[in-house]
Order: sequence, then C-alpha cells, then structure tokens
Amino acid sequence: MTSFRVLLIVLLTPLLCLTAPAAHAADGVPPVGGPVVRGFDPPAERWQAGHRGIDLLATPGAAVFAVLPGTVSFVGSVGGTPVVTVSHGDTRTTYEPVAAEVVVGQELSAGEQLGTLVTGHPCPGGTCLHLGWLQGTTYLDPSSLFDTGGIRLLPAEAVTIARRLAAARAAMPTAGSPGLLLRPVPGQIGSGFGMRMHPIFHVWRMHSGVDLGSPCGTPIRAAADGVVIGVSYDSASGHRLTIDHGRLGGSELATIYLHARSYSVHVGQRVRRGQVVGQVGSTGWSTGCHLHFSVRLGGRLVDPARFL
Ligand SMILES: [Zn+2]
Ligand SMILES: [Zn+2]
Repeated sequence: MTSFRVLLIVLLTPLLCLTAPAAHAADGVPPVGGPVVRGFDPPAERWQAGHRGIDLLATPGAAVFAVLPGTVSFVGSVGGTPVVTVSHGDTRTTYEPVAAEVVVGQELSAGEQLGTLVTGHPCPGGTCLHLGWLQGTTYLDPSSLFDTGGIRLLPAEAVTIARRLAAARAAMPTAGSPGLLLRPVPGQIGSGFGMRMHPIFHVWRMHSGVDLGSPCGTPIRAAADGVVIGVSYDSASGHRLTIDHGRLGGSELATIYLHARSYSVHVGQRVRRGQVVGQVGSTGWSTGCHLHFSVRLGGRLVDPARFL
C-alpha cells in the first residue's frame, strides 16, 4: 500500500466510522434467513425514538447466527429482552430477542449459531430478529455488514412480501401435522430447513429439507402411502427418489429423498407407509452418509419437521 493511500485512509476513517466503518463490511453472513423488513433509522438525539438496528423476518425457534467472527461478550436480559452480544475488536453486534446457546467468552466464527429466535420483537409479517451494531455508544447500520443483495428490500416491498408469506403460512392446510409422515430413517435432524451456510460451498443458501443423520446402509422407509413418481441420479442430489402421496387438505403432497446409496423401487410402483425403499448413502453433494428429506406441499417445499 502506498503511503498516499495510508494517509487517505487515516484521513477518511473518522468520516467512514459514521456510516460504514468496518474493513469487514459485507464480509459477514445474515443472522437469519429472512429479509430485512425494517431498516436502520437512528434518532437524531440519543433520547429520541428511532430504530437503532435492523429487523430481519424469521420464525420463533429459527437458528440465529453470528454475523462476524468474534467473542461473546454479553448474554442476558436488557429491559426484559434476552440479548446476545458478540464483540469484534472495536465494534460489537447485538442479537435480540434470542435464547442464547453460547456463553460469555466463547469464540464464534461467522455463521456459527449463537441461539434461537424467540418472540418479542413484532414486525410486518410476524416475528423479527433485531440486529444492532455498535462502536462505543454509536449505533451503526448493520445492513452494511453482510451482502443483503436479494434479501434486503425496500420497506414497501418487504411489507408486501411479508404479508404474502404470512398469508401463505395461514393458508397451509396443516400448520403442523406431527405424525402425518413417518420419519424415513431413525436419525435425528442434523441440519434443518431454511437458510444455512452450505457445508461444501460455504455460501449462504436455502436448505430445502432436513438432513437426518444415519449410518450408511440404513434402510430408508416411505414416509406415507403413495406412488413413486421419480427415481433419478444427478451430481448434486445423488440418487433421488420422489413419492407422491396424493392430496392433503386440497394440496398435493410429495416427499423427496436424496443421497441414497440406492433405491429398490421404480417409477409407477405403489408403496406403503414404512415400506423399505432404499438404503442411506452419500451420493451427490454430500459430506457423509445421511438422508436429505424434503416435503413438497402444493408445489412448494415446506419444513418437513412439521409433519414428522
Ligand atoms: Zn428492531
Ligand atoms: Zn440436506
């Protein structure tokens, strides 16, 4: 770096501190998967009302991730709201309302889960995570911390989308039908439905189902009675199986199984709930033996956990 550029940075840094001070700006990851539905609107004076952070739409129980690498510096209640604070050198990020799954002093990498969202910060469309960013006592705009391209929205757009999401949720015939589907392998859910850091590509993307940890060779069982409508192979999914279960509350329900070692059924075959249809494997983009299980309801991928 030339001394001229160093000088320029030294001169400009105090100015930049007011807006986008961080050298690491945009290197962070979104703390939850939802869009920004309320932007940063700091008050002109400290005692005035305003919005000292941004709100990201999510659902209660959603995983909340550290935006930047840092050290947990506070876990506790502020005015009755559970807050987690992570320090990043001279700045810190705050996450609320969050049920912490970390302790003070714990080091976190960007994208590491620090807790789960709880209700308490209402926003258009439902429940939000309030993300704050501070340098000393100065509030900064957290939306400059990560790439909000495609996620950050104008308020009007955000409200429209949030309303649409809320309407879609309300229209779902089964807001939750535990037991409707059989868990296809005995394993626990390792990686859930929603936005996540992709384990192979290390980019933030939608996870379209749940990953059930299971040893190689474990029998995979049909989640419900149905007809096999797809058996295929591609480099991402590996061996892929789709079973159509017919209509549920007016919507077509199908289950999708990825990464199997092999399937023992063929297109057109009728299967019963619990029938063995294949064996767990690690084909396609997979880091180890597991079953990726997706549920499609009325043409949309929904959270399988609601039906297990
Ligand atoms: Zn807020
Ligand atoms: Zn998966």
